[in-house]
Amino acid sequence: MTDVKRLYLMQVGYIAERNTPFVCYLVQLNDGRNVLIDTGLPDVAQPPPGVTMPTMTPSKNVVEQLASIGIQPSDIQFLITTHFDGDHAGRLDAFKNAEFIVQRTHFENAQHNPRFERTKNQWSNPDLHFRMLDGDTELFPGLRVIETSGHAKGHQSVLVTLPNTGLVILTIDAVPTQDALVLDRQMRPVDDNLEELIASTRKIMDVIEREHAALVVFGHDGNQWATLKKLPEFYD
Ligand SMILES: [Zn+2]
Repeated sequence: MTDVKRLYLMQVGYIAERNTPFVCYLVQLNDGRNVLIDTGLPDVAQPPPGVTMPTMTPSKNVVEQLASIGIQPSDIQFLITTHFDGDHAGRLDAFKNAEFIVQRTHFENAQHNPRFERTKNQWSNPDLHFRMLDGDTELFPGLRVIETSGHAKGHQSVLVTLPNTGLVILTIDAVPTQDALVLDRQMRPVDDNLEELIASTRKIMDVIEREHAALVVFGHDGNQWATLKKLPEFYD
């Protein structure tokens, strides 16, 4: 059984020279409630110290994308925040009505991790209401999160069971591209811990096999994103 009606994929930023998309997702439930997954880049993306930002192709941001299918920020009841990197948590405070769903370990780690300083004005906003999760959790029938540390402590990936398509896995940054879906993978400079990264990759591989996933959506895979349906199209 699933309470999930639709899954929308939206690209809210793109770096052409690296073929890297920046993305968010919207899950619509049968009862009309909306679950947003991540919020993409902020208005002005601040590169980490010492890093030169490559050129971004202008894209509609998450608020504009949602508006194009008639959804206002106040229509978002739940916001799954996978982790607090700037390309995922740039616009949290546009969704003040939502309940924010985060892994407790991530939230606690972020308090004193300089990596998440850049988005602290977003996730430490006292107006936002956070629900802390302790590991893998079913949020609704057909909508689950799994803890996938390695890219960041308490990073989470999302499992969406759709009525027609079947199981869709949103790996987010646990497996950013198809070619990283291997156990002998390397750390990237943006990752936190290789051992956890490999454990999370194995965890995702196990779900793919055990539950016969219909689609695995990688977090930043430009080649794959070119082939996927994007808002206003959807998966059901
Ligand atoms: Zn990312």
